[in-house]
Amino acid sequence: MAAETGFVAGIDLGATKILAAVFDRGMKVRAQAKVKTPGSGSADQVLAAILSALDIALAELDLKRSDLEGLGVAVPSPVNRRKGIVLSTPNMGMKDFPLRDRLAGLSGLPVALENDVQAGTLGELRGGALRGKKYAAAFFVGTGIGGGLVLDGRLYRGSTGSAGELGHMILQDGGALCGCGRRGCLEALASRTAMARDAVAAAASGKAPILLDHAGTDFRKYRSSAFARSVESGEKAIERIVERSAYWLGVGAANVTAVLNPEAVLLGGGMVARFPDLYKDIAFRSLKDHLMPALGGTVELLITKLGDLAVPLGAAWASRDLAAGRESAAAREVTGAREDMDGQEAAE
Ligand SMILES: [Zn+2]
Repeated sequence: MAAETGFVAGIDLGATKILAAVFDRGMKVRAQAKVKTPGSGSADQVLAAILSALDIALAELDLKRSDLEGLGVAVPSPVNRRKGIVLSTPNMGMKDFPLRDRLAGLSGLPVALENDVQAGTLGELRGGALRGKKYAAAFFVGTGIGGGLVLDGRLYRGSTGSAGELGHMILQDGGALCGCGRRGCLEALASRTAMARDAVAAAASGKAPILLDHAGTDFRKYRSSAFARSVESGEKAIERIVERSAYWLGVGAANVTAVLNPEAVLLGGGMVARFPDLYKDIAFRSLKDHLMPALGGTVELLITKLGDLAVPLGAAWASRDLAAGRESAAAREVTGAREDMDGQEAAE
């Protein structure tokens, strides 16, 4: 029997963990592995950790790197996809860092580079809750709030590649301070960081003893699992904080619907994956309440289908598209066409 071929891998390089997943020709996930992101701030150590996560996942399938057709890597930073450069992830020692070429040199594989949220949107579009949608917006709720836009069935990237910063729509002028330095952004109202800020205050004032016991008053320990434990134990003050996040996402979804007239708005990211029903109910109600009447009934609200795998799947698809772009560029060379091909823009 001939050995199976057509594998690609996708990597989600996160601030705290690196998730590697191997997909078969049909883009079905076959193996995955997680390692901690080195806290050293050294790019070399991050590169080594990426390869170690990849090798662990490959070993599960008895594969070697050379059995892969390509590798996609998604990073929490704006990227220059054409040049394969990570613009800035200071805590990983990558500023204007040529991650694509460095990783290609170390792995011996063609590498596609993506921003993580855009990869997540692409993953949901090709193999998740947005499959078959032509017009959609996606919000990913984590430490911050990332966004992605799908227009005419393709990921929309904007003039400089940074379209879809849905977390930085200002919804409350003069409101809470945002990581971007302005006030009242959706991210400052509805991200896990915003929820942690409010939950620490609730815990410190005695309204959430279970959360206080579990996570103390260090907001960095307020991960989605801590929120889940608290809410499941019946701590209403914390449940209301999560509900408020869903409410503000509904407001953001109504704004983006007014601008883009999408068929669907997707909610994803760790907090949403922990509280899918709560986010679906409250965000959808809020979306309807804030939508301009003429748009009523035009948009549905969807919850992530892929969870953690959305980003690796999108990165793996970017790698597939890169290969397809190379093939079509080669074909054009044969026919003498002169288009300037950026393989990475192919076939979204
Ligand atoms: Zn902001």
